[in-house]
Amino acid sequence: MSQSKPNILLIYTGGTIGMVKDFKTGVLRAFDFKSLLERIPELNLLDCNIDTVSFKEPIDSSNMNPGYWVQIAELIEENYEVFDGFVVLHGSDTMSYTASALSFMLENLAKPVVFTGSQLPIGDLRTDAKENLITSIQVASLQEDNNPIIQEVCLYFEYKLYRANRTTKINAEHFEAFASLNYPELATSGVHLKLNKDYLFKPNTKKRLLVHKRMDTNVALIKLFPGISEALLKNIIATPNLKAVILETYGAGNSTTESWFVNLLEEAIYKGIYIVNITQCSGGSVIMGHYETSNQLKNIGVISGKDITTEAALSKLMYMLGLTVSQKEFKTMYETSLRGEMS
Ligand code: ASP
Repeated sequence: MSQSKPNILLIYTGGTIGMVKDFKTGVLRAFDFKSLLERIPELNLLDCNIDTVSFKEPIDSSNMNPGYWVQIAELIEENYEVFDGFVVLHGSDTMSYTASALSFMLENLAKPVVFTGSQLPIGDLRTDAKENLITSIQVASLQEDNNPIIQEVCLYFEYKLYRANRTTKINAEHFEAFASLNYPELATSGVHLKLNKDYLFKPNTKKRLLVHKRMDTNVALIKLFPGISEALLKNIIATPNLKAVILETYGAGNSTTESWFVNLLEEAIYKGIYIVNITQCSGGSVIMGHYETSNQLKNIGVISGKDITTEAALSKLMYMLGLTVSQKEFKTMYETSLRGEMS
């Protein structure tokens, strides 16, 4: 590989982006990534060296799980010194979960990891895959004084670059499939690629990359709804080995004030189960104590997820449960922004 051009590693995990349509039969099949540069000659125009690696068996991202997250983290870890940036091709369905998880797993990351995918296969006539792929590689190649400009896990889709752990998939058919409602875009791609440098994450570059691989899945995610029953909540909390529950509450972190509800949560906290309050609104923040309907939650020691997304809340929880954080420290640490995931 040449010295002067940035070296980019393309990691293909699966998803629609890597498929081509057989125009005679109309059948979609996986694309051979070894022939990527032949199939998309435009990539040769980019000012970087591209290498590719693919999951042995590419998956639809609905089959993603923490085991695969570790595989991606290890590919980045093994290739970290040789490459200047990483582009991860991933199905859009669970991309925000994986990308959020990777943001926690890769501590002190000082190089770009850009997740992208597409709504239409790369071989489709009207595909969004080419633009997403080309600009993601371009973004991962951005350098200043031989150092990468972007030093965090991002997600690029339909002309916008987002901080990954701020994103949510909001649309199953529009090309604009993702949104970041509580944090501005890191870059927009139009005639020019416009970077919002003030919003980029600034890691401690003096520290070495630390890859965390223990993600504890003993967690539950509960969306409140009017009419939720005591029996349902009781059963979930009684799940063997349960260590933490994310409650998606209403508005600014509000819930029913019925005593059975608050008592159940209080008992769970007493048993050492962490309860995290996040809002089921796509934008905005939990402010416990703002209304009477959240004051009790605050008083019993519920953790505030502030303006975190569900995807980041869940992966942050799995990550922190995998560390050895004491009961006393857990709440303070969870309520602190670790990778720019909350305001
Ligand atoms: N079901 C696909 C996946 O997430 C959709 C996509 O690729 O966008 O893998």
